[in-house]
Amino acid sequence: MSTPERHEFQAEVKQLLDLMVHSLYSNKDVFLRELISNASDALDKLRFERLTTSSDAAASEHAAADLQIELASDATARTLSISDNGIGMTRDEVIRNIGTIAKSGTREFLAAAKATPRDGIPHDLIGQFGVGFYAAFMVAERIVLVTRRSGESHATRWESIGDGAYTIEDADRPQAGTTITLHLKPADEEHGLRDYANERIQDEVVKRYSDFVAYPIKRGDTTLNSMKAIWDRPKAEVTEVEYREFYKHIAHDWTDPARTIPIKIEGTLEAYALLYLPAKPPVDLFSPEMKRGVQLYVKRVFVMDECKELLPTYLRFVKGVVDAHDLSLNVSREILQKDRQIAIIRKQLVKKVFATLEEMKRDAREDYLGFWAGFGPVLKEGLIASEGIDHDKLLDLVVATTTHDAAAPTTLAEYVGRMKDGQDAIYVLTGTSADAVARSPLLEGFRAKGYEVLLFADPIDELWLEREPKFGGKPLISIGRGDVVPGSEEERKAAATAVEEQRRELGDLLVCLRAAIQDEVKEVRLSSRLTTSAACLVADEHDLTPRMQKLLAQLGQAPPPVRPVLELNASHPVMIKLKAAFAADSTDPRLAAYARLLLGQAYLADTGQLPDPTAFGKALDDLMLRAI
Ligand code: ADP
Repeated sequence: MSTPERHEFQAEVKQLLDLMVHSLYSNKDVFLRELISNASDALDKLRFERLTTSSDAAASEHAAADLQIELASDATARTLSISDNGIGMTRDEVIRNIGTIAKSGTREFLAAAKATPRDGIPHDLIGQFGVGFYAAFMVAERIVLVTRRSGESHATRWESIGDGAYTIEDADRPQAGTTITLHLKPADEEHGLRDYANERIQDEVVKRYSDFVAYPIKRGDTTLNSMKAIWDRPKAEVTEVEYREFYKHIAHDWTDPARTIPIKIEGTLEAYALLYLPAKPPVDLFSPEMKRGVQLYVKRVFVMDECKELLPTYLRFVKGVVDAHDLSLNVSREILQKDRQIAIIRKQLVKKVFATLEEMKRDAREDYLGFWAGFGPVLKEGLIASEGIDHDKLLDLVVATTTHDAAAPTTLAEYVGRMKDGQDAIYVLTGTSADAVARSPLLEGFRAKGYEVLLFADPIDELWLEREPKFGGKPLISIGRGDVVPGSEEERKAAATAVEEQRRELGDLLVCLRAAIQDEVKEVRLSSRLTTSAACLVADEHDLTPRMQKLLAQLGQAPPPVRPVLELNASHPVMIKLKAAFAADSTDPRLAAYARLLLGQAYLADTGQLPDPTAFGKALDDLMLRAI
């Protein structure tokens, strides 16, 4: 036997362990749920491996035959062990899985934890993050893990007191699987630390959190859980608590789900599903490594985790289980992609998720707004990817801030209900932040004439709105591009005539201003959308907006340079003075400096940044010197 090797934990793990060891997280019972969930996952993996490596038709029967989880405890020695005969881990896997955290968002979590006063730390934050295995350090002062990877002959022993280091050495284990032995801290009821060496308490915790686990959880000859598949029990028989605990088991989330959606599909095929909408977005919602997709079962037999074929990418946050009764147990991912049954099930699932969201939007607006704040950006990806009925339903789900009432986000249907007579489009504006869009000078004319504009500030909004989708026959038109003028046909004509008149008077001044900034703008023209500001930028009809360009640049796709159109407000006092100055002396050098300042101002209002701060600064200096 080798001597134990000492390893330091990854820095992130050290911090996490420190949080766990001193944890004030009130519900310490959950450590057992986490360990049992991990054991159940390990059994799933072994079963899947057996299924896919054996061509024997009877293999599926045998695949699950002996799989189980076992609890053993010793009240005197104060130990509790959880064993499984699942897939196990190699020595390298132990170091990788137990010694490091790969989860994206860990750094953010730890930074947030550090910023919170000690008493406040763990409660919400730990729950939101879900610390898995490490939760055991809330109840144990020392943990020993012995594991043997299925298919290997030797085992590995890992041990730690949660102080920043662990030891690892070779070991013996008669069978593949993992045993985790907790050397329990003294019970301290006052701080929620119950006597987990007590079998009665273990029974209660198992029953409460892990009853539905598909493998027997045993103590000697007794099975502690019912193993009833929660998804094919009649809805009326399952309590809300059972549904919630099942969610936490499969989603590895410590927070209650926002909605539970039991689904029964009958007719040409038979399938049961139990889907959940999480309450809070996971930290890695936008990371490619995010665990996504639901679990697939065939007649209660686990077939595959993260089955991406059952839901579109824009519903990747939906968790749950699908049990398709007529599918083959040996189904592979390649088959799934083409399977007709899967396509039918997927359609039903999407329909049910939409119906649930629709209902939440209608009957529980506050819940829905919270949900939308977290998951709206992902759902909106569907406005680019989907077509037909799904696309229409997604548009129905959109909520946006509005100039109608800054405090109450609105739906498109509500907007349409408030549209003025003769208004033929839904006006929208996108920007880099909610504040920036709300302050945009582009809104002035619309506000003045009493036209409502919807405000969007997620990066994804640029992309789906770019396609000018239609809602109820009305196009969503961005007021940041082209020559969008609020109002009916007549109002637009009147505005055009007014601008035409002003242009006759100011045409030469515009040419002069443009000459000073001609490399930076496509055109300098008069605006009918400004009331109080002097200038704004708009994108030409088919050009990318400045924000769109920035977005593409961030994505590493440098777009071809597009020059914006600078629109000026003919009634603004500055313009009136410029007109006089130009009339007095058309070569006045101040005119060029003014052109540059107006352009800079318009940029600041639009993207919050100047494309050429040096030129802007010089023009500003120049005018300051002249003015003093
Ligand atoms: P999570 O379960 O959220 O991935 P954990 O910290 O609970 O995070 O576990 C880390 C990893 O360790 C698991 O993903 C798994 O690969 C491995 N692991 C934990 N427990 C077991 C077990 N009983 N059998 C096999 N592997 C395990």
